[in-house]
Amino acid sequence: MKIFHTRSGLSTYLNSKKTSNFSVGLVPTMGALHNGHLSLIEIAANQTDLVVCSIFVNPTQFTDSKDLDNYPRPIENDIAKLEAAHCDVLFLPSVSEMYHKTEQWHIDLGDLDKRLEGKIRPGHYQGVTQIVNKLFTTVNPDKAFFGQKDYQQFLVIKKMVDQLKLDVELIMCPIIREQDGLAMSSRNIHLSPKEHADALILNQVLKFLEENFKTQNLINLEKEATKILESSEGIELEYLEICNADNLEPVNSEDYPSLVALVAAKVGRTRLIDNTILR
Ligand code: AMP
Repeated sequence: MKIFHTRSGLSTYLNSKKTSNFSVGLVPTMGALHNGHLSLIEIAANQTDLVVCSIFVNPTQFTDSKDLDNYPRPIENDIAKLEAAHCDVLFLPSVSEMYHKTEQWHIDLGDLDKRLEGKIRPGHYQGVTQIVNKLFTTVNPDKAFFGQKDYQQFLVIKKMVDQLKLDVELIMCPIIREQDGLAMSSRNIHLSPKEHADALILNQVLKFLEENFKTQNLINLEKEATKILESSEGIELEYLEICNADNLEPVNSEDYPSLVALVAAKVGRTRLIDNTILR
């Protein structure tokens, strides 16, 4: 696996590789890699000729500086995992390589910036689009691979790609879970065994919604699921919503062609998110 620390080094290398039929896949990550990330690498390898994984803990998307400081950075481990997964290229830039000191960025994300994660973490998606746009410019990928785990993030990036008319195909990859159902996340290492056990209710409630959304009123179902989470030990619920899967607007009737249920909660000090596409 080749490792690049500079944008110019990476793009020179990729330009030398790119011939008419050669495709590049990009998998952006913040590292502390787990099987969820590695599944993206595998899907990218099946669909493109060369896979670039980026590892960059992006400061502009953190709304809490402690969270940024505490974010795990086991880089030697990550490199070993990427080598084992036959990733072709790792892009590992420093913060100063990606950002000048004074840099303004704002893109109109509409309601996506104000609801759910956007509401709880103001500015988060501006930071996400800022760094993903920089990665797209550097790598110029034919396809970019993102996890359904961050469902709202996927819609946000899609919106940016549409608005800026970027020439990249976005691929949403399924959520990879632990055997017990907990969605894999770099933050799971902060969970104590008790917190891990408490956190299982998140996936269980999403399953409950999957089993019942066809036969029950959606508003009542959302209320029932919220009650379950609010009374669950160790869970500090932030939101549980059933939304229109195309734009994350709240649903108020049964006749939506696409539906997604999204949940966010703190378990101890660790913030977790999960979701399921119902329809
Ligand atoms: P992160 O390192 O958390 O920024 O995640 C990098 C990419 O991996 C994002 O596209 C995530 O949606 C994706 N991802 C994170 N966790 C999972 C998971 N459990 N299953 C599938 N993809 C995931």
